[in-house]
Order: sequence, then C-alpha cells, then structure tokens
Amino acid sequence: MLKVYKFGGTSVGTVEKIQAIADRILSEPSHQHVVVVSAMGHTTDQLVELSGSISASPDPREYDALISTGENVSAALLSMSIIAKGKSAISLNGSQAGIYTSNGHKRAKIMHVNPSRIQDELNQNKVVVVTGFQGISETNDVTTIGRGGSDTSAVVLAAALGIKECDIYTDVDGVYTTDPRAVSSAKKLTEVSYDEMLELASMGAQVLHPRAVECAKENGIILHVRSSFLPDEGTRIKESSTMELNRSVTGIALKKDESKISLVGIPNSPGIAGQLFSTLGEQGVNIDMIIQSNEQINETNTITFTVSEDDFSSAKTITESVASQFPGATVVGDTDIAKISVVGVGMISKPGVAAKMFQTLGNSNVNIQLITTSEIKISCAIASSDAQHALQALHQAFDLHLA
Ligand code: ADP
Ligand code: ASP
Ligand code: MG
Repeated sequence: MLKVYKFGGTSVGTVEKIQAIADRILSEPSHQHVVVVSAMGHTTDQLVELSGSISASPDPREYDALISTGENVSAALLSMSIIAKGKSAISLNGSQAGIYTSNGHKRAKIMHVNPSRIQDELNQNKVVVVTGFQGISETNDVTTIGRGGSDTSAVVLAAALGIKECDIYTDVDGVYTTDPRAVSSAKKLTEVSYDEMLELASMGAQVLHPRAVECAKENGIILHVRSSFLPDEGTRIKESSTMELNRSVTGIALKKDESKISLVGIPNSPGIAGQLFSTLGEQGVNIDMIIQSNEQINETNTITFTVSEDDFSSAKTITESVASQFPGATVVGDTDIAKISVVGVGMISKPGVAAKMFQTLGNSNVNIQLITTSEIKISCAIASSDAQHALQALHQAFDLHLA
C-alpha cells in the first residue's frame, strides 16, 4: 500500500526527531512511502529574517530561492537517515518531484503535478522524501507556495498519486475547538467537514493550510491531522456528517496579524470604492473585511477595510494616493487589529449565533469594529489587546469546552 503523508517543522525539528521518523518508516516495510517534510523548526522564519537584513522588500525570485532551502535540508537529512538504517531512499526537491506552479513568487499556485519521477523511484523500492512548500515555475524558477504550504504539497501529491487519505503529522494531536495553546479547555474534534476546516484555516487556525483543505475537498481526499509523537487517532477532515449539525459552532479561529485602514471624508458618489479596490487588487493586496458608512450631515463617506499586517504599508500608500484626489479626504491606519471568527455548519439551521457572539463580546467589554459573515462563519475585527479575552469568552459561551 502506498502512503502519502507530511511532517511539519516541529516534527523534524532535531536530528533525533528525524531519525525517529526514519525508524517509524522502517517499521512499515510492506508499505511504499512518499513523505513530505517542512523545514526544521523555525528555519523558515530565520531565513525570512535573514532576507530582511538585506532589504525590507527583497527581490521576490531570490526571496523564494532563499526561503525554500529549509526544506532541502530536512528532506536530505531524512533520506540520509533512512539510507543509514539500511533502506533505499531518495530526496526530491519540488522540481524533481514534478510540482509545477504559477510564475508568481511567495504565494505561487500549484498548477499541476507530474508524479512520474516519484513513481519511478517507488518502483525501485525507495522511500521518496519530498520537500514541501516549493515548486518550479513555467520559467524554471524555484517558487514557494505561501507560509505553511507544505500541507498543500502533501495533498497535491496524494491527489496526483491517487491516494484517498493523507496524514498530516504535527505538534498537536488533532484539530481542536480552538488553538489548544491559547485556550487550555479546547477540545479535540473527531471529525470536521471540509467547509468548516476551510473557514477555520482561512480565518487563522494555523493547523492546516487553507489550500490543502481546498485541494483535499476537490479530490475527495480525507485529511487525518495527528500527532507526530503519539500513536492516537487524530481528527479527520472529510465531507460533513450529520454529527456536526447538532452543534451550532464547531470551532473558533483567531487571526492576530490583521490591520485596518479607513479612507475618511470622500464624496458620496459612485466609483470610488471600485477605484480603490481595483488598484489594491492589481497590486496583489488581499482585502479581508469591508464596511462603508455615510456621514449624513456633510454627505461624505468612509470606507474601512482590513488587510493582513504584511500588506499594511502598501495598502496604506495606495489608499493615500486615492485620498489625494479628494480635497479633505484622509487616511487612518491601525495595525493593532485581530479577527475572531466562529465557524460551524450547524449555524445554517440554528438562529441566534450572531446575537450570542455580539452579546458575549459586549458583556466582555470588547468593542466590535467590523463584521463579516458567510453561511457558516461570523467574523469580528477587534482590538488586538482584546483578542485573548474575547477568545476565552466565546469558547465558553458556545460551550465548546464541553464538545
Ligand atoms: P506544522 O509545523 O506541523 O505544520 P503548525 O505550527 O503549522 O505545525 O500548526 C500546528 C499548530 O496550530 C499547533 O501547534 C497549534 O498551536 C495551532 N493551532 C491553531 N488553531 C488550532 C486548532 N483549532 N487546533 C489545533 N491546533 C491549532
Ligand atoms: N517551512 C514553511 C513555513 O514555515 C512551510 C511549512 O512549514 O509548511 O512556512
Ligand atoms: Mg503548518
């Protein structure tokens, strides 16, 4: 049987941990293994920092060339360990593994996978160790696919190799009702639907990369999030089951690196929002939440939106250039913003979730700055200083400690 799975950064954080993974692989000699690995520990963070010591906006191609190297190290070390223990293995980088991406850097999209080299190596009875997080563009350049992207690398390989369940080994033993490091009463979930997991991951639950969930859903691959260190069953991400409908909220996600920009005092006339957001889009800035409000007395509008902190300075510059076209318009920015989101398919059939969320935040003295909703999610932008307190209060209010 062929298994495709991924080990995250903490799981390959030391040589001893890498050797333990090699032992685990050797203990299953009747299986074929494709193992995707992340960079060791905080290597990628250190590489990002290193690039920042050269330039605040490093050349994107060279940035990817640099930050992709962490995975090369862990893949070679794991392959070396397996070989040293007497089994054939080979490490393949993104290009050798046939992972083809779009041309953009930092957040390139995987376009297709040609698994023929992987298949050849498996046929030669080798364990195949693949670098996560990277691929090769049409122009033959190394690309990276976004922070946390090794999950996605594993899922696209599982899809290309026709595997229907992909294990994601990490430093927690499953997906919890919220980050168990932030709320100690968080409970492990047995199953989470693709749609809920996609919302949780997109809203800041770091445990899975959103595109990994998307790709698993598209290909009907069950994701099994589990501990690298314990043998226990983890959480399965799959098509929704009736079980989830019994609860209105399945989980809560917190995203701390948000920022808010307001364009204040613009005329109440058509076209300005279109101009602002199309310019932001052209510059690759992802907009998150948006509100527009109207000042009745002087007939002006204010547009407020949130972007991730990484995009704050470019988004603010673009907004200032739009403001400069309108006498009296100003731009106000705030980087101390967090976004808290409650997620659950059960809220479709159970009214009152929004009311309970807003009341709980109000009773906790947390001011809501922006709100967005989808069918299965309600998000509020709040001050960063309120984030932890709000998370605890909502987790308690929705009885998730009893899940
Ligand atoms: P890896 O390096 O294995 O990819 P990550 O650090 O990317 O691991 O993701 C695992 C971390 O995700 C956990 O250590 C945990 O703090 C965090 N996390 C956030 N939300 C959740 C959640 N709902 N359930 C489990 N872990 C979560
Ligand atoms: N090493 C990369 C990162 O830290 C990719 C990953 O871990 O999934 O973002
Ligand atoms: Mg991760």
